[in-house]
Amino acid sequence: MRLIDADALKKWVEEYHTSNWGIPQDELIYAIGSAPTIDPVRHGKWISVPHKKTRICSVCECDEPYKFADEDANVFDYCPHCGTKMDAKEVWTYFD
Ligand SMILES: [Zn+2]
Repeated sequence: MRLIDADALKKWVEEYHTSNWGIPQDELIYAIGSAPTIDPVRHGKWISVPHKKTRICSVCECDEPYKFADEDANVFDYCPHCGTKMDAKEVWTYFD
């Protein structure tokens, strides 16, 4: 199974379908096959907050205190609040 971008496919159909002759089956199968894939997993990063014993999810901004863990410890691989996978190398942040 592959999740595709329905909006991109719809745009292709609208641009292709300029007459009442319809779209040939092989062209439609090609369009479906070449539609962009959607990645349902969001990628983020834990962001430490200076002078506070907490870290913030870069996607939902919920905090996850680390009172009993060291600041660099990876407590969760996924955010328990929004499900984001914490594997992003870099994220834009305004917490600094
Ligand atoms: Zn989150």
